[in-house]
Amino acid sequence: MTTLAPLHRAIDDRVARIRQSQTEWPCAKGCDRCCRSLADLPRLTPSEWTLLKSGLEALPPATQSTLRERVRTMTRGTAGYVCPLLDTDLGICPVYAQRPVACRTYGYYVERDKGLYCETIQARVDGGDLDDVIWGNQAAVEGQLKADGEALPLPVWFDTLG
Ligand code: SF4
Repeated sequence: MTTLAPLHRAIDDRVARIRQSQTEWPCAKGCDRCCRSLADLPRLTPSEWTLLKSGLEALPPATQSTLRERVRTMTRGTAGYVCPLLDTDLGICPVYAQRPVACRTYGYYVERDKGLYCETIQARVDGGDLDDVIWGNQAAVEGQLKADGEALPLPVWFDTLG
């Protein structure tokens, strides 16, 4: 396993720089759109899971049980998956500080030839609003994560909880 701290710092620095220069950036508290329309099951490397698990274990037992059940029964909807960890009433992530790397990069990094995913951001890019933004390289981030081991789907990790 690897330490995620340097990668998290690099991502946080980029996010902070972009948010400073683009005060109207769409990704902000109150927007949970990406958490409600995941293209695929969340996948986590061993270190990402260790960190996420520490966040889960700090939640009240009743919340932990609810999240386990949601992960167990999650299904794909027409707009993709709603993340089973999302507090859908409040629109917040209960494990925000321990969230996976993909959740940290979404909206600030792009994959070549795969678009920007979020329609809100895509519309601003198409309109030229974000021309001066230097997007991060998502493939490079994933390349760094590979050194940590295989990324497994969230339900597989939850199964290891016993
Ligand atoms: S882990 Fe948290 S930030 Fe990531 S998709 Fe789920 S609710 Fe959203």
